Amino acid sequence: MSNLDYETLEKELVYKRKNGFRTMSDKEIKIAFDFAEKYKDYLNSSKTEREAVKTSVEMAKREGFVEWESEKTYKEGDKIYFVNRNKAVILVKFGKLGLEKGVNISVAHVDCPRLDLKPNPVYENESLVYFDTHYYGGIKKYQWVTLPLALHGIVVKQNGEKVEICVGENPDEPVFYITDLLPHLGAEQMKKSLGEAITGEALNVLVGSACVKDEKISNAVKLNTLKILKDKYGITEGDFMSAELTLVPADKARDIGFDRSLIASYGHDDRVCAYPSLLALFDAKDIERTAIVCLTDKEEIGSMGNTGLESNYLFDFIEDLAVVSGVNPRTVFRNSKCLSADVNAAYDPAFSEVYEKNNSSYINCGLVVTKYTGARGKSGSSDATAEFVGEIRRAFDENDVLWQMGELGKVDIGGGGTVAKYVANRNIDVVDVGVPVLSMHAPCEAVSKIDVYSTYKGILTFFEKIV
Ligand code: MN
Ligand code: MN
Repeated sequence: MSNLDYETLEKELVYKRKNGFRTMSDKEIKIAFDFAEKYKDYLNSSKTEREAVKTSVEMAKREGFVEWESEKTYKEGDKIYFVNRNKAVILVKFGKLGLEKGVNISVAHVDCPRLDLKPNPVYENESLVYFDTHYYGGIKKYQWVTLPLALHGIVVKQNGEKVEICVGENPDEPVFYITDLLPHLGAEQMKKSLGEAITGEALNVLVGSACVKDEKISNAVKLNTLKILKDKYGITEGDFMSAELTLVPADKARDIGFDRSLIASYGHDDRVCAYPSLLALFDAKDIERTAIVCLTDKEEIGSMGNTGLESNYLFDFIEDLAVVSGVNPRTVFRNSKCLSADVNAAYDPAFSEVYEKNNSSYINCGLVVTKYTGARGKSGSSDATAEFVGEIRRAFDENDVLWQMGELGKVDIGGGGTVAKYVANRNIDVVDVGVPVLSMHAPCEAVSKIDVYSTYKGILTFFEKIV
């Protein structure tokens, strides 16, 4: 064989991961960068699951989606949504085929790691007033000190009235803040491990220092803060007991790098799959099978609760659609297919020791398909069948979707879980797909614009081409 023949043979036999900046046209890269601008707007208006649901429903209404009516039968082209307790939403676009042929579902979660306020959060210590927090999801606690934090959420008052609160997002609003020790006095602290230096109980957020002018009041700074809250929101200290208030980084999404190829933001995990899922549903044309997007809650704490996917709300909803159409729900589930759209850990050269190079996902190499998650011997994973992965792979290749395979880190180093196993419980074919993320679960995470766009294109292909 001549050298040239070996080159041909290599091309035919050897798999090479593709980098979008090498393989995509300039025109398509521009489309990906434009897509990122709208994604950044979504991030900035969706810092909690409630806000993500609200933003998503507003977008869906502009696309002609209407609220689900449980007794109604729907036909091809109908577009509906169902909101579950303001924290999760299901959106449906009906296809040509009957539900008995199965549906195509893309699920992403819209909750993120954060600092929730405790039910009795306000206390004063030496003339400073704090909110006591209980963190939500997997965080590295040391990352949350000395950051500008914004307060988001709702308070349900004693009289049942609901008050929405959002402070710290506009430049003219105040932010909140957790202190850290100065290096000059930090010698003992610096001897501790990263996991021990800042404890969960130490995540106390500074919210004020001014007091009311009355010597007889013992907690005059706390009272001053409570007075401000009463004046502004009409709430009392007791109202915190029936509230969901959360502290998140106050920053907006920004580009990273001279080439602006990456996006830095809080909450990419998993809005970076929620937004492409939504846009793919909006843009999907002439679909054979009914397409469903579910933006769910509570993934970061194990999908528990009635707004998480361990509950039946998504499956009950599909059952309800089936029953009014006279279709056996189990037939629908058996024939359905699902992308569990969630992030994966991008290979990080700065921490190469925890990754296995050949089986990691890489920045700018597109949507990552993850056949199985889990820890140790794939424990807790829904391992997708080779047949289903093969079907997805073929569709992606035929439709020029930039994609790659990836595991989360080296075997026995750690692992993770997604909602895939809860979908699989209903005998639905499911595989994990998503965007590779740098610094996952940090207050500011990083993703590539090409990967976000490729995820949109992959999900659109799934809706339009997989029958
Ligand atoms: Mn996730
Ligand atoms: Mn996560």
